[in-house]
Amino acid sequence: MERIIVITGGSRGIGAATARLAAAQGDAVVVSYLRQRAAAEALVRDITHAGGTALALAADVSIEADVERLFRDVDSAFGGLSALVNNAGMLEAQSRVEDMGAARLTRIFATNVIGSMLCAREAVRRMSRRHGGAGGAIVNLSSAASRLGSPDEYVDYAASKGAIDTFTIGLAKEVAADGIRVNAVRPGVIRTDIHAAGGEPDRVNRVKSSVPLQRGGEPEEVARAILWLLSDDASYTTGALLDVSGGR
Ligand code: NAP
Repeated sequence: MERIIVITGGSRGIGAATARLAAAQGDAVVVSYLRQRAAAEALVRDITHAGGTALALAADVSIEADVERLFRDVDSAFGGLSALVNNAGMLEAQSRVEDMGAARLTRIFATNVIGSMLCAREAVRRMSRRHGGAGGAIVNLSSAASRLGSPDEYVDYAASKGAIDTFTIGLAKEVAADGIRVNAVRPGVIRTDIHAAGGEPDRVNRVKSSVPLQRGGEPEEVARAILWLLSDDASYTTGALLDVSGGR
């Protein structure tokens, strides 16, 4: 049976790679985006032309009303939900903590932490057997930064991913008996646009020698881990934090 998977921040990077792979294996995918409508719609066109099912919806995950609308639109379009990939995430210009203001910290935590928690809430309300759902799976995008701390660059971002680790562990225990598995992947340095947002587009090449595998990762390499965690092959895995970081 076709699964229906919501992938937040699916217009680019790891989210888009996950959407392509999921659609290729027969899942219907909903990709949400913040601003890059053209990229999201191009992805949907590619998937649809290849015979898959995809829908792009705008929603800022840091805004509760947007999140609620996103999931209501998924209800209308598909009438069900099988899985959520909490992928939407952001960082800001590289900075030391002594130079970070409350506005920046609020933006980071609103998107990376509160956004993921709100989307998980909506998914649990639909998938939980406690609420008449059929069960399901959630994968949260954490980061190796939650272990490494990202000094001189993004300690705020790293701390937000630490919150995602703890959220993953707690929610996994809370909804396990309701038929929902909750896991996280912790990517290392992956070749996407996110490094440009931090002010260093070539960051992967600078840090790759500190990675035991001696290279940055590709979005598809993270997507494959996400799809494994969503699959029945991971049926006994919940509350796991899976490093996809080349050994770093
Ligand atoms: P990316 O290429 O910068 O793409 C970010 C995606 O998130 C885009 O689709 C963007 O939408 C969306 N987004 C950002 N803020 C949003 C908001 N408030 N509401 C809704 N959507 C929002 O990022 P990426 O590198 O693929 O990262 C994906 C996830 O992996 C993130 O959670 C990130 O923290 C995590 N991660 C990445 C790396 C890495 O090295 N790349 C490492 C560890 C963890 P628009 O296209 O509309 O802007």
